[in-house]
Amino acid sequence: MKGICILGATGSIGVSTLDVVARHADLYDVIALTANNNIDLLYEQCLQHRPKVVVVVDADKAKAFESKLAHSPIADIKVLTGAAALEQVATLDEVDSVMAAIVGAAGLLPTLGAAKAGKTILLANKEALVMSGAIFLKAVTDSGADLLPIDSEHNAIFQCMPAGYRTGVQAKTARRILLTASGGPFREMPIEQMVNVTPAQAVAHPNWDMGKKISVDSATMMNKGLEMIEACLLFNMLPEQIQVVIHPQSVIHSMVDYVDGTVLAQMGNPDMRVPIAHAMAWPDRFDSGVEPLNIFDVARMDFEQPNLQRFPCLRLAYEAIAAGGIMPTVLNAANEIAVDAFLNEHVRFTDIPVIIERTMNKFSATPADTLDIILSTDQQARVVSTEIVAELTY
Ligand code: NAD
Ligand code: MG
Repeated sequence: MKGICILGATGSIGVSTLDVVARHADLYDVIALTANNNIDLLYEQCLQHRPKVVVVVDADKAKAFESKLAHSPIADIKVLTGAAALEQVATLDEVDSVMAAIVGAAGLLPTLGAAKAGKTILLANKEALVMSGAIFLKAVTDSGADLLPIDSEHNAIFQCMPAGYRTGVQAKTARRILLTASGGPFREMPIEQMVNVTPAQAVAHPNWDMGKKISVDSATMMNKGLEMIEACLLFNMLPEQIQVVIHPQSVIHSMVDYVDGTVLAQMGNPDMRVPIAHAMAWPDRFDSGVEPLNIFDVARMDFEQPNLQRFPCLRLAYEAIAAGGIMPTVLNAANEIAVDAFLNEHVRFTDIPVIIERTMNKFSATPADTLDIILSTDQQARVVSTEIVAELTY
């Protein structure tokens, strides 16, 4: 039995992970679940999976959750609160694998803690890796942790890499990554109409059912920008070795181009239980609960170049990684603030790249050598981008 901790259990990835866990209760023992504030769903999950400990980050919600547990059949579950408790449960001795599925920078410290503790990291939380880059990879190397990508594209690339491949190592025979993108809901909208896009339109993704933040990131294509940086880090590739390919059907989840001209692709239905089950069973395989791909229903696959005029966020991600140093941290923080402001209807959809670019212009790409530098850059970039949001608020 492997002990698992799910950071962000109540989110889209967390729920899919527990669905896979339920199919393999003989292999996985749920040790810890964490939530920010959705205690009703957490309670249902606790009834079904009986973790030893949970974290409810919000203190008031944690109190409410404790009262809910008090007269229940699961009163023995320990309840912790506060952000520091996330790292505490992710590094427990009984925990072998940590599903890092908190959204955004809030997931950095517990995920990094798990990496330092040598846990198997199932990495969905791409923002944590993008903002901390080399520091995160060094923690993984130093502890000998396994780092397995959950992001469908990176999981696909991992599967297309040579046998025995490990993340953080360059496979010399792989010369290029073809990183696929659906293009999101606005791939064909006339550019001048994008200013009027509403949060409801932006979170309605054509192929994937995901949390709000990543859905907006998919609509701006910042998600692909973050994934391009994620791919450079995980597979030790240069940005120019990563070609973003718009593939609206989302059947191919990415490809690897080898020196002999071979191109390997990983395909499947667009359901996150596929990469989750792959990473959980690795290096073996087991059932994910996903229907077999019906290739006849797919019938055709299209591929297009991304248009950087339509998707300035993708250009900004290439600029951030080219600049290096703290710039990916700045990009990520400004994006989190901008997306939040858009979801709260303070700024327009087309303001998102404006906020990020203006924030990036206020920083220079100094080295990102320590965790303290990363954390203080993240805070400073949030202050700067919040000021820019205030200027743009309509
Ligand atoms: P979500 O919004 O559905 O869930 C987020 C989870 O994080 C929830 O459990 C929430 O309680 C928790 N959380 C939010 N803020 C928190 C905070 N401040 N402190 C502690 N916990 C907090 O998001 P999601 O779609 O499941 O995405 C999670 C991560 O996985 C993101 O980094 C996303 O980019 C990545 N990812 C998601 C998908 C997908 O299909 N949903 C695909 C690839 C990668
Ligand atoms: Mg992805």
